[in-house]
Amino acid sequence: MTTTLHTAALDDLIGDIVLHHRPRHESGTVPRNIPFLAEVPFDRFGIAVATTSGDVFSSGDADVPFSIQSISKVFTLAMALQGTRTGRLWSRVLREPSGTSFNSLVQLEAEQGIPRNPFINAGALVVTDHLMEETPDAAARLLRFLTEQAGNQEGDGGRQGPVIDEAAAASELASSSRNLALAHFLKDFGNLTQAAGAVVENYVRQCSIMMSCVQLAKAGLFLANDGQGTAGTVLSRNEAKRVGSIMLTCGMYDAAGEFAYRVGLPGKSGVGGGILAIVPGHCAICVWSPRLDAKGNSLAGTAALADLSDRTGWSVF
Ligand code: GLU
Repeated sequence: MTTTLHTAALDDLIGDIVLHHRPRHESGTVPRNIPFLAEVPFDRFGIAVATTSGDVFSSGDADVPFSIQSISKVFTLAMALQGTRTGRLWSRVLREPSGTSFNSLVQLEAEQGIPRNPFINAGALVVTDHLMEETPDAAARLLRFLTEQAGNQEGDGGRQGPVIDEAAAASELASSSRNLALAHFLKDFGNLTQAAGAVVENYVRQCSIMMSCVQLAKAGLFLANDGQGTAGTVLSRNEAKRVGSIMLTCGMYDAAGEFAYRVGLPGKSGVGGGILAIVPGHCAICVWSPRLDAKGNSLAGTAALADLSDRTGWSVF
């Protein structure tokens, strides 16, 4: 893998990626259960690269905050793995690709309330429940973690740090019947210790955190850097490697295989249009473009990462 590009070359390259991949016409979809995401202009496009040597490169709308949605699941998993109860966590959620949509009820019912992985909604609800056993407001803990890793106002050129968009969370919560159904299934199978409604509410607030590409790339750097984040150790080297493995196999909904084929990097997407991708040992990349493909992944974001990987040789293969 070619990992070293001169600063000027990388600056030019990501500038060129923005030029080529920023959508010129509206295509793709928006999630039906989160109305405010449809209001984000279709031609927003940003990319940021945070390197293990401490540099941050960015282009396009890389400083515009967007809704991180399911990218939050990478960070809640990392927080859960920081604790001492990981054996219990892994008895409640598996580490296999689901091959079904991220909010499928059928698989959870057939598999007796044990979610396939922590990155589908049912799995993230279990991780949230696990965190809430020790920290009732797991979303607030996540926000503190992200603020620390991503840099806040002072450290970020006067820009706003990560925030929970409480209004967006309330509006999503009002149309969260499916997530509530998943939580009630989990509860019925004995795989949730808190009240189903409380877990869904906390989970939706995690998803409603607003961050920019620059902030997400910095917050995800520990995954490229043997567990060392911008603000100290987040995970051991082995645990960081394992989170990367789960991103590779489960991070892109039921398009994980296609993403591995096209991009060749561990990634995690969210229906806000963001994708966090990891080049182990070298950098964390965040790309954002709000319109989605049929599987819920950013259309232009995936194409941009495939292009970037082809042009740099950045790949785990
Ligand atoms: N909050 C969204 C949901 O639970 C997140 C979906 C996603 O980004 O995958 O449906």
